[in-house]
Amino acid sequence: MKRIGILTSGGDAPGMNAAVRAVARKALHEGLEVYGINYGFAGLVAGDIFQMDAASVSDVIGVGGTMLYSARYPEFAEEPTQLKGIEQLNKFGIDALVVIGGDGSYHGALRLTEHGYNAIGLPGTIDNDIPYTDFTIGFDTAATTALDAIDKLRDTAKSHERTFVVEVMGRGAGDIALWAGVAGGASDIIIPEHDYDVKKVADHLRSQRQRGQKHGIVVIAEGVMSAEKFAEELGQYGDFQLRATTLGHVQRGGSPTLRDRVLASQMGAYAVELLMAGKGGLAVGVLDNKLVNHPMTDLFNAKHHAELSLHQLADDLAY
Ligand code: ATP
Repeated sequence: MKRIGILTSGGDAPGMNAAVRAVARKALHEGLEVYGINYGFAGLVAGDIFQMDAASVSDVIGVGGTMLYSARYPEFAEEPTQLKGIEQLNKFGIDALVVIGGDGSYHGALRLTEHGYNAIGLPGTIDNDIPYTDFTIGFDTAATTALDAIDKLRDTAKSHERTFVVEVMGRGAGDIALWAGVAGGASDIIIPEHDYDVKKVADHLRSQRQRGQKHGIVVIAEGVMSAEKFAEELGQYGDFQLRATTLGHVQRGGSPTLRDRVLASQMGAYAVELLMAGKGGLAVGVLDNKLVNHPMTDLFNAKHHAELSLHQLADDLAY
C-alpha cells in the first residue's frame, strides 16, 4: 500500500478535521502518500480528489465542520456507481481509504473493501449512536454546546421562575440529552430509550416548586418529540410558566473540545495502522478507553446502548 484516500461523509461533526489531520499526518509520517476526497462518495465518483501534504491540514485541528466537505449521495448504494468510484481510485492510484462518518458511510466503505480497496471507518457523528464505541467523534463537543445553552437558559429560568423544556439533537439516541442533562442539573431528562410519564414529570416539578426551587429545566431528546409538543402536554398538568427551546444545528458546529480532538487524533492514527497491517472493512471505536476495531458487518446487526445509569443518576440528584 502506497497511497491512501480520506473522505468525510454523512452529517458533519466537530472533530472531523482533527481526524482528517491525524490520518494525513500519520500516513505521511509512515511514508505514504495521501489524497483528500471532497464531498464524500459523491466526490469520489466525480474524481474531486487532491493530493495532501503536511501543510494541507495545518490549523484545522480546532476548526469545526469538515474541510473535505460532506454530501449525502444515496446513489453510491448502487454497484455501477461504486464501480465509477473505483475507476477514480485506480486513476489516482489510491489503494486504501479512511472513511469518517456514520452508519451509512460504513456501508459505502464496506462496498469498497469488497471490491478490493481496504477501507477503515471512523465514527464521526454528534449523535453517539454507533455501536461498539463508547464515544463518537463530535459527541463531546455537541453535548458541551448543549450544556452551555442549558446553563444560559437556567439564568433566565431562575430570574423569572420559569420551566424550560430544552430539545437537543441525537436523532434516535438520547446520549446528548443524558450527558448535557446530567451536567446541566436538569430536573428531568426525556429520551427515546427510557419510558416517561408526563404526569410524573409535572408532579416532580410541582414538588420542586413546593420545596422552593421555582425554576426547572427539562431536557428532551429530539427522538422523543419536539420541545413545543412536550411543553404543551406538560402544561395540561399545571402552570409551570413553560417555555420551549429547540437548540438545533448550533450543536453540529463549533471548535471541537479537547476530548473530541484527542479521540479524533487517536482514531485517525489507529486507522492508518490498521490499513498498513492490510486490514479493511473495520470500524474503529473506543471501549473502556482503549482503541478497538470490529468488522463493519457486526455493527450493522448491533444496537447502540445509551448510558442509562445517567438517567437514574439525574433522577436521584434532582429528587
Ligand atoms: P449520519 O449519522 O451523520 O447520518 P451517515 O454516514 O449514517 O452519517 P448517510 O447519509 O446514511 O449518513 O450515509 C452517508 C453516505 O454513505 C450516503 O450518502 C451514501 O453515499 C453512502 N451510503 C449510505 N448507505 C450506503 C449503502 N447501503 N451502500 C453504499 N453506500 C452507502
